[in-house]
Amino acid sequence: MLLTDKNVIITGASRGIGRAAALECARQGANVVIGYSGSPSSRSTVDELIKEIETLGQRAVAVGAPAGDPETGELLVEAAVSNFGGVDVFVNNAGICPFHSFLDMPRELYLETVNTNLNGAFFAVQAAANQMKRQGRGGAIIAVSSISALVGGGMQTHYTPTKAGLLSLMQSCAIALGPYGIRCNALLPGTIETDINKDDLADQGKRDYMASRTPLGRLGRPEDLAGPIVFLASEMAQYVTGASLLVDGGMYVNLQ
Ligand code: NAP
Repeated sequence: MLLTDKNVIITGASRGIGRAAALECARQGANVVIGYSGSPSSRSTVDELIKEIETLGQRAVAVGAPAGDPETGELLVEAAVSNFGGVDVFVNNAGICPFHSFLDMPRELYLETVNTNLNGAFFAVQAAANQMKRQGRGGAIIAVSSISALVGGGMQTHYTPTKAGLLSLMQSCAIALGPYGIRCNALLPGTIETDINKDDLADQGKRDYMASRTPLGRLGRPEDLAGPIVFLASEMAQYVTGASLLVDGGMYVNLQ
């Protein structure tokens, strides 16, 4: 039990990587605030997740609010404080990646992607960090960035800068928040099968190609990220801050 009695907020926890992380945090003894978009279509999966976490003997509440809204971070923190008494870990995971070519990128799509993935993250991290500072017992902040922080993507010119931005945000926040004992780290997933890339990976040729680029020989699963997130959240990583952890089955180093 690496997170006994810790209170964890995870954005984008209704599905995919965030959901797997929420369940693993609960298995490790944490209570969880589940952030999601507020879309009615996600409510039933959120309710199921709350039940699963309660079955594990932990508590969970959900906050449905757009990640790009500057007030959403405050709502998440308020939920953690009023329901559980505080915040120990904040995982900024919510994100979108609507593939699109560069030359004809709609302005609205660019702005929505940057707002959801990066601008909202800034304010949410700020809200969580201020709460952790008030509590005076340190904390851990983890941003789910991407391998795309390090490499480009022709159909992701609106997305990759947000992921590089998140990595940079964690590096700067590690310096700004170190004096308060708040550790800030970035997690860089490779290709993980979730709804975000369902359409792209529906092409069997693309799936096989991506798996062949991966030394471990398969695409990632959401559960592959849960352990690394728990590690960075836990005291096992007590001297780890400003770091980034690639969780990509070795894809990044497989150039030649
Ligand atoms: P996913 O299965 O599509 O889940 C996305 C999550 O983000 C959902 O919980 C969704 O909530 C939430 N979300 C989306 N838009 C939101 C908004 N406007 N406001 C609030 N919440 C919103 O995707 P995933 O693959 O798990 O992605 C999680 C994170 O990992 C993202 O930041 C992504 O960039 C990053 N990542 C993923 C991969 C990959 O290969 N899958 C690789 C690198 C990085 P709703 O259910 O309410 O829509």
